Amino acid sequence: MMHKYNFKGKCTVVTGGAGVLGLEFAKILLECGASVAVLDLNVEHLELFTRFRDRFLAVKTDVLDKSSVQNASEMVLAKYHKVDYLINGAGGNSPNASTSSNTSFFDLPLDALKFVGDLNLLGTILPSQIFGKIMANQKEGNILNISSMNAFRPLTRIPAYSAAKAAVSNFTQWLAVHMAKEYSPNIRVNAIAPGFFLTEQNRYLLTDEKTGELTDRGRKIIDHTPMGRFGDPEDLFGAVLWLLSEDSKFVTGIVLPIDGGFSAYSGV
Ligand code: NAD
Repeated sequence: MMHKYNFKGKCTVVTGGAGVLGLEFAKILLECGASVAVLDLNVEHLELFTRFRDRFLAVKTDVLDKSSVQNASEMVLAKYHKVDYLINGAGGNSPNASTSSNTSFFDLPLDALKFVGDLNLLGTILPSQIFGKIMANQKEGNILNISSMNAFRPLTRIPAYSAAKAAVSNFTQWLAVHMAKEYSPNIRVNAIAPGFFLTEQNRYLLTDEKTGELTDRGRKIIDHTPMGRFGDPEDLFGAVLWLLSEDSKFVTGIVLPIDGGFSAYSGV
């Protein structure tokens, strides 16, 4: 596929880059000519990138462990000597932090709540500290966070995830202002807020495990999406590439919904 963006010579770090969405972001950036470093807990299945060897790096990294991210940043700098873009793609929910017919809100275990809060918020802040410092020294850079529909209005059943993504949106605005005012107006920070993409994290909520049919929740989402479908990862590409590119050079601190109209629809 041909893309209108050319990111040749641009070094992009993608945390969570082995996941459903992160992997697609890594692939599209490679196709657009960028050099890519995937930082993920799980990098074993990334041999598919061998053909991009000179501009691909995978580093087993825990985004919640400062020395692990620091070590990854040193490997990235050793290979590419700079960092142009950071996509904070590591994140997600956990069934243990979701209410269900078996577990009420009052019984949600603290460790599960903490896991989801930390992964989404601290898992975005910590790489932003380490790679943001490199960008501050370079006086340029671009950070892209992943928020969610939950940040605008929380969805039922997933209180920790909703709160954590609201915090990611808030942090996106905070960091955009901080970087522009304290370090350089050429460091931008934005977020995308994807609508509903059927992935391993939410499949148990949206489809019946046995029949594959939509659950009531899955049906409600489709009914509440004016475009009438779940998103495909490629529906995010245009927004991701635009926010990283110079075409959006006066845009910082926004949280861009890519949701088939979900967030605009009152339901009536
Ligand atoms: P995913 O679970 O497929 O990918 C997440 C990746 O993060 C995995 O590869 C995982 O190994 C990695 N990861 C988890 N903990 C980590 C850690 N501590 N250190 C390093 N890596 C770690 O999820 P996804 O659906 O691709 O979602 C990516 C992002 O998009 C997440 O922030 C998610 O919350 C957000 N999002 C997803 C949807 C959706 O519908 N799928 C909608 C809105 C937002």
